[in-house]
Amino acid sequence: MVINPVFRDYICTTAHPNGCSENVKNQIAYVNSKDKFNGAKKVLIIGASTGYGLSSRIAVTFGMDAATIGVVFERPASNRKIATAGWYNTAAFEKAADEAGYYAKTINGDAFSNEVKDETIEAIKKNFGKVDLVIYSIASPRRKDPNTGEVFYSKLKPVGESYTNKTVDFHNKVVSDIELEPATEDEINGTVKVMGGEDWELWIKRLKEANVLEQGAKTVAYSYIGPEITYPIYREGTIGKAKEHLEMTVSKINTLLNGINGEAYVSVNKALVTQSSLAVPVVPLYISLLYKVMRKKQIDENSIEQMYRLFSEKLYTKKIPLDEKGRIRLDDMEMREDVQKEVLDTWERIDTENLTKMTDIDAFEDEFFKLFGFNYPNIDYDVDVDTDVKIPSLME
Ligand code: NAD
Repeated sequence: MVINPVFRDYICTTAHPNGCSENVKNQIAYVNSKDKFNGAKKVLIIGASTGYGLSSRIAVTFGMDAATIGVVFERPASNRKIATAGWYNTAAFEKAADEAGYYAKTINGDAFSNEVKDETIEAIKKNFGKVDLVIYSIASPRRKDPNTGEVFYSKLKPVGESYTNKTVDFHNKVVSDIELEPATEDEINGTVKVMGGEDWELWIKRLKEANVLEQGAKTVAYSYIGPEITYPIYREGTIGKAKEHLEMTVSKINTLLNGINGEAYVSVNKALVTQSSLAVPVVPLYISLLYKVMRKKQIDENSIEQMYRLFSEKLYTKKIPLDEKGRIRLDDMEMREDVQKEVLDTWERIDTENLTKMTDIDAFEDEFFKLFGFNYPNIDYDVDVDTDVKIPSLME
């Protein structure tokens, strides 16, 4: 069938297999153009199908020659529906990994559940024996507690008081004010339950108990801080509370890993367009302005550039550079004083009339479509494509 983008707000309900494949190929080509580096050889990536998790999988496979097991939560094509972008990305990744001689296995299911954790452990035992790196890159709106069955929801809201700021509808390019009511206690707790460190800790605990972590194994999860403009909705909002919890979980995991000399880290990454970041009010306008400023200074990085830098220059160096709170900082360029000053100076002046001139909103919109496999200049979108693409390792 011929697939066109069907979108509403920050979600595209269709995805193009050839475009998703192009996205994966481009990321692989970037890593192949760089030097190889030493690090882990058997890697588990939890949340491996899109955004930072997909780029992590590509960076460790093609940069570090690692075999990978990726846990994803994606929908295959069915009679009435096209598969999700993460499904097509994973299919394309596995094909490319196989062609290059790398082992890759995918597990599709709810990473928060005990069943998927057990299935993953079985796969590690069968294929790897043990893993030496665990990357945790889940972003989700909900989580079912595996022990009580209670479902928790993540809400993107300010904490304490309401918050008004500019936001943009990047489809019709209109800037407007958005007012967000403060979260209730339940909403704060729910967000921490979903996006905090509890599930990461559960994973490491279970992997350790099953004796599938190598001596000296490392684990890393991703966080974000961002500029003061977005503090009320991000770092000081519900999601920020969850990120604080995630960051505090590092010391608990380090204690768990004591016996095997393992190490846990949080990496604070740069803001970029992913399915998750699009959902945060105000942030899309900030990112489109950030792009403009960072691109002008020629210091912008996309997700594969960030992940290549994480593994080649940070996580596997003799002395890992950490900030005063023990975090790896990949947002160093985003947070540079000159960058943030320019962002702040411009922010106040942005309106619908000058949006295209003051920000890189067109690039932002382009990246949104690219997340779902659209807008790749070398793909013919008028051609019929087979939507029922298989992920080879799920057929085994
Ligand atoms: P994303 O939406 O692109 O990726 C989320 C991944 O989680 C996908 O692979 C999805 O399949 C998987 N997933 C979701 N629910 C799952 C479940 N129940 N079981 C198994 N897999 C599940 O998001 P992203 O932006 O790459 O976010 C990844 C991490 O990076 C998050 O912790 C996020 O906060 C962090 N981060 C993102 C940004 C940014 O600007 N995008 C910046 C810094 C840090």
